[in-house]
Amino acid sequence: MSEHTITVAGVAVDTRHWIGGERVASAQTFPDVSPIDGSTIGEISRGTGMEAAAAVAAAKAAFPAWAATSRAERARILHAIADGVEKRIEELSIVETTDNGALLRSHRRGVMPRVAHNFRFFADGLLKLEHEDFETRGHTNHVSWDPAGPSVLITPWNAPLMLATWKVAPALAAGNTVILKPAEWTPLTASLLADIAAEAGLPAGVLNVVQGYGSEIGDALTSHPDVRRISFTGSVPTAKRIAESAAANLTPLSLELGGKSPLLVFADADLDLAVDLAVEQYDNAGQVCLAATRFLVEESVAEEFTRRFVEKAGQLTQGDPRGEATDIGPNIHPLQLEKIDGFVQRAVAAGARAVIGGHGKDGQYYAPTLLTAVAQDSEIVQEEVFGPVLTLQTFATEDEAVRLANDTRFGLAATLATGDPERAERVTAQLVAGTVWTNCFFVRDLQAPFGGSRHSGVGREGGTWSFDFYCDLKNTVTSPNGWNNHG
Ligand code: NAD
Repeated sequence: MSEHTITVAGVAVDTRHWIGGERVASAQTFPDVSPIDGSTIGEISRGTGMEAAAAVAAAKAAFPAWAATSRAERARILHAIADGVEKRIEELSIVETTDNGALLRSHRRGVMPRVAHNFRFFADGLLKLEHEDFETRGHTNHVSWDPAGPSVLITPWNAPLMLATWKVAPALAAGNTVILKPAEWTPLTASLLADIAAEAGLPAGVLNVVQGYGSEIGDALTSHPDVRRISFTGSVPTAKRIAESAAANLTPLSLELGGKSPLLVFADADLDLAVDLAVEQYDNAGQVCLAATRFLVEESVAEEFTRRFVEKAGQLTQGDPRGEATDIGPNIHPLQLEKIDGFVQRAVAAGARAVIGGHGKDGQYYAPTLLTAVAQDSEIVQEEVFGPVLTLQTFATEDEAVRLANDTRFGLAATLATGDPERAERVTAQLVAGTVWTNCFFVRDLQAPFGGSRHSGVGREGGTWSFDFYCDLKNTVTSPNGWNNHG
């Protein structure tokens, strides 16, 4: 084991970058801290412009051969990566939980199987990717998906490997080479992914992983003229910075950003179901981009809804995310905790009432919080908290519900609880949201488009939309005449 390898819950993790099929160390490191107990897990290579340039150069060098590799062979390697993920689900799960504090049982049963599925889904999708030819005055128009080139993929800490592979898999399937930059608060599973990909036979330079602070290494990646695609999941301020940086080369961008999504509860809803959906919004300690953090409840059922919600939320167990019975783990970082509490204290000072919670607990835990008496134009209703903090407002009419639901700068998702299918259809048609769930939450077929409107994002990924983004689409028009010159 090299001096750059750390052992995390019994799993060896290399702390260096992965560039051109080799481990590369930086002169400096940064500490990776576990949110479970605040302990330092290890020192990670702290990338600079130099490593960013090396990674792009490696991706550029590897691109022609990977782009020319047959679809069947690319799909085979992606399936081999999925096999590697499945073999290491236990290791990936414990490392991810140690790094980001999300529930171990969720990683084992939901997240890591989904990571493997990301690779299988885009491998299979690649093999089916084709478009019917168009005919114009006897001329054939044939559409092809050409690999675009080196792609920079930048990801956040709230679901590190799931979100990274949601980009890595389609980019590799498309024939692109990749430079993955995971979040500095959760660098570990991206390093394990590099090992798994190498073992699966992915050629050197096709997947590169660079570690470091976004503020230090980000610009060098996103402004690089050899980069052909940038896909980013993260916050709105960072997205704006990346868009400015990418503008120099007009590099195409896909942006998956934050939200302030509503849960609309109508009086005709199954109230127990509505409460179940509402309590689910504390999942991952509220660190979910899609979370329906604004409850909009019809006046006539608001009191009963609140009573049942408080009762159900009171049954949640908060604590060590490795515990089988734990429902809510810690928040990611002391800075995030400070941010969450700042939002809550300012809201309370402005007149909000904490029905439950409203304060931090021991360590990096924040009590599940529900705030009422919040104004529509207040910070707590308009801004994403990214913690276990929900608000509740009431409405009198369907029109008012729609108006409140749409009245933020975001448009990522919306959830409806209603027993009336016609109402569901009418309301859905008026909502600004990339995803609308009716009487359910978080279920989604990977073939469907995913993304947000307004400040929640630019573009859609998922299914063939991912291939559209990661490829240069080409239309080849062929005349029915002229071949006989060579006959
Ligand atoms: P963030 O914007 O702070 O960081 C995201 C990534 O960007 C990190 O890897 C970071 O190092 C990098 N980065 C920072 N500055 C950069 C720069 N100048 N250039 C290039 N990269 C840079 O976001 P976060 O706090 O890690 O994540 C939370 C946010 O992500 C929330 O807003 C959440 O809603 C959003 N999110 C969205 C989705 C979605 O699919 N829409 C999914 C998960 C999270």
